[in-house]
Amino acid sequence: MQKISNYINGELVPPVSNEYLDNYDPAIGKVYSLIPDSDMRDVKHAVESARMAFEIWSQVPAQRRSDILMKIADLIDRDHEVLAVAESIDNGKPVKLAGKVDIPRASANLRFYATAILHFASEAHHTDQAAINYTLRKPVGVTCCISPWNLPLYLFTWKIAPALAAGNTVVAKPSELTPYTAFLLSKLCVEAGLPPGVLNIVHGAGDKVGQPIVEHPDVPIISFTGGTTTGKRIASIAGPMFKKTSLELGGKNPNIIFSDCDFDQAVSTSIHSSFSNQGEICLCGSRIFVEEDLYEKFVEAFVGQVKALTVGDPLEDGTRVGALVSAAHRDKVLSYIQLAQEEGGTLLTGGEEQLSGRCENGYFIRPAVITGLASNCRTNQEEIFGPVVTIMPFTREDEVIEYANSTAYGLSATLWTENLTRAHRMADRLKSGIIWINCWLLRDLRTPFGGMKQSGVGREGGWEALRFFTEPKNVCIKL
Ligand code: NDP
Repeated sequence: MQKISNYINGELVPPVSNEYLDNYDPAIGKVYSLIPDSDMRDVKHAVESARMAFEIWSQVPAQRRSDILMKIADLIDRDHEVLAVAESIDNGKPVKLAGKVDIPRASANLRFYATAILHFASEAHHTDQAAINYTLRKPVGVTCCISPWNLPLYLFTWKIAPALAAGNTVVAKPSELTPYTAFLLSKLCVEAGLPPGVLNIVHGAGDKVGQPIVEHPDVPIISFTGGTTTGKRIASIAGPMFKKTSLELGGKNPNIIFSDCDFDQAVSTSIHSSFSNQGEICLCGSRIFVEEDLYEKFVEAFVGQVKALTVGDPLEDGTRVGALVSAAHRDKVLSYIQLAQEEGGTLLTGGEEQLSGRCENGYFIRPAVITGLASNCRTNQEEIFGPVVTIMPFTREDEVIEYANSTAYGLSATLWTENLTRAHRMADRLKSGIIWINCWLLRDLRTPFGGMKQSGVGREGGWEALRFFTEPKNVCIKL
């Protein structure tokens, strides 16, 4: 069975413990590879390597750093198919989605920051007291990058690309549920000639690997994407140590549909925004609010299209909904479908799905649509992070704003209307870091990305990420 290695100081190495954890293929419910059960000792080695490498990498000209990152991006494109299949097997997502979204986005992240760093400049200005101020933006140091399992290589590269481009070195931990493509990436980094210690990848459990990186005194900066509970824990450690922290956390995003929308577009994109990647995207719209006079028509059309979605083997081209990432996560999502019914909701379609053949032991759920729930019930307040949506009617703009803003989260919101004035008014009042109007997940890497309230702290993307991954230092010269 394939054993995944850590990537420390430029080498693919086993964990010090020589112990391994099982890595499951969620579509078949079987162990297919082994992941290092790393601990504090591996983290220490990785941080020390990154600390040594920082002395050199932070001095390497930006053009050279850029060239190496571009080379890694080229290698990702070269291995596009292998990586897409690996991502699908590791995560359960349809291979078609991995090939169309995850892998191209991984190379795009690297290219975007490899080129952005060449254009990143800092400010200078005269002051009234006959002086000049200029600002240096220096790399911060050894950076901790922790990423989740839902978009494994996509989010892993989203963090390491700006961190490395800015001249930091990195100790990264992918999710233990989806380590495989980060492992493949470490091989590509060796091939691309990334100097030893610049990127270190330590695999293993969150508490045994992630937390020691966060706690390490030689790591001054942390970029984390994951659940709000883990984010709180990381913030409570990083805060008293005054570490720079960027937290991209959970969401419970509203999808608001006014009766003057482009109906067909609103329905088909809502299918996408509800169930892409099995609903395991932090930006999925899990609460759909429909203006009352459109409500019945919308529910009928929406449920009709949901029932037509093919739930199946992620490796088959026609599959739209693959497996959930783990048995534990499938059970959690099913428990929310149960809870929704206990809270008085009506399940119009969806629930556990039993496939036959190769995938008979996989973790599948047919996309679920629930109506009849109040906006303040637990189903509508807590993040489920699976293929489950609720649909609720509303009559007034004020009312839907109140519902939309009523959760502890504030990551993204989607709005469907042809009324431009209303669109601007709503965008202004929705408490979300990202608002999509008449579209969903139309991403532009230059824009600030992140959430409000318990969806996170700080923004990444575009210059925001390069500002986060650098330390500004102001210099004032008297003329
Ligand atoms: P978790 O918070 O469980 O895990 C995220 C990462 O943190 C994993 O690598 C995990 O390791 C690690 N980790 C776990 N415990 C600790 C710890 N004590 N110290 C340091 N690291 C730790 O999230 P999930 O992986 O379950 O991802 C799903 C969540 O991510 C959802 O809430 C989703 O909304 C959010 N998310 C947010 C995004 C955003 O941009 N705002 C984008 C994508 C997802 P391990 O896997 O080994 O436990």
